[in-house]
Amino acid sequence: MQQLQRLLTGDRPTGRLHLGHYVGSIANRLKLQSEYDCHFLIADLHMLTTRPDKADIEAISENARQMVLDYLACGIDPARSVIFLQSAVHETYELNLFFEMLVTVPRLQRLPSLKDMKDSANLAEMPFGLLGYPVLQSADILLPRAHIVPVGKDNEAHVELTREIARRFNNLYGEVFPVPEVLVGDVPTLVGTDGNAKMSKSLNNTILLSDDETTVRKQVMSMYTDPNRVRADIPGTVEGNPVFIYHDVFNPDRQQVAELKQRYRQGAVGDVEVKEKLAAAVNAFLDPIREQRARYEARRGFVDEVIYDGTLRMRERARETLLEARKAMGLTGVWNRISRKAEVARKQREKSSVR
Ligand code: ATP
Ligand code: MG
Repeated sequence: MQQLQRLLTGDRPTGRLHLGHYVGSIANRLKLQSEYDCHFLIADLHMLTTRPDKADIEAISENARQMVLDYLACGIDPARSVIFLQSAVHETYELNLFFEMLVTVPRLQRLPSLKDMKDSANLAEMPFGLLGYPVLQSADILLPRAHIVPVGKDNEAHVELTREIARRFNNLYGEVFPVPEVLVGDVPTLVGTDGNAKMSKSLNNTILLSDDETTVRKQVMSMYTDPNRVRADIPGTVEGNPVFIYHDVFNPDRQQVAELKQRYRQGAVGDVEVKEKLAAAVNAFLDPIREQRARYEARRGFVDEVIYDGTLRMRERARETLLEARKAMGLTGVWNRISRKAEVARKQREKSSVR
């Protein structure tokens, strides 16, 4: 049987997932999950780069559970995919350190995404760890030796860096890593309900995949539209208008959308009608996800099992990659002997404790 190519992507466990996550990355995961050997990462170490407080760390377990429930609700198949907790795979830290030697500080400083993250986290100065965010991400991607990385637009430049690191490693030490391809979603960046360029939890402009019907309706009814259109009989602008962007993405009734746009341009439809129809479309889109979520929620302990099982499977894969990487680098000598001795000692301890 031909071996499948591998896919890796992930999300920070900062809370439940929203429509932006769906169109930016989840949709492609669903499309590819039968063609690729998939790895989905709960990026708790990445969360630490901007939120290292104890309270945030304490929230990881519950956030991770909710996030994995969102995965399952969308249709990610846990039997087929490896869903794992980043901080519990210690090879991540090791590979991260090796990669840190292969990238320069100015190269990282040139990435606009890091400055955006620093600003939206209200940090006065750039933490060392945040500067290394895309290096850690490269370790995540290359640990399962992934060939493809489905992410939103804001992560595209990070995958480009991963490609550089993979090439540099291979040139210096020998072919260990594939040079992964980035796959940006059909909607590279989904606007927020407030008209901000990116739907993001920290900006409080989201519609969550797990929001109930009433909440969705409320969010949609208060959405930002054409600010110049103070009355329904004034011709409005459709292009770049968040309400119509969402209609294009989530309303499968193309004819209805075309007709609404035409009337909007002519000043022949009120915002309320346009938004009512959008709320109905978004709710219809979310309905099956809500149903599936409820089914998984009812299975006590299931999500924890998925994370434990995935993390164990990931550990095996990570161990293999690290061994290859160390071998290629020529860092195996003492390390191998120590590992063997430690293994023998562990088995002896086990034996004597059984007796
Ligand atoms: P939030 O700010 O809401 O926590 P985030 O950017 O921190 O979102 P991450 O966990 O860093 O979310 O990213 C998870 C994935 O979702 C990434 O691939 C990211 O590019 C994608 N993504 C997040 N928000 C959007 C959006 N508004 N549009 C498209 N893709 C998005
Ligand atoms: Mg997030």
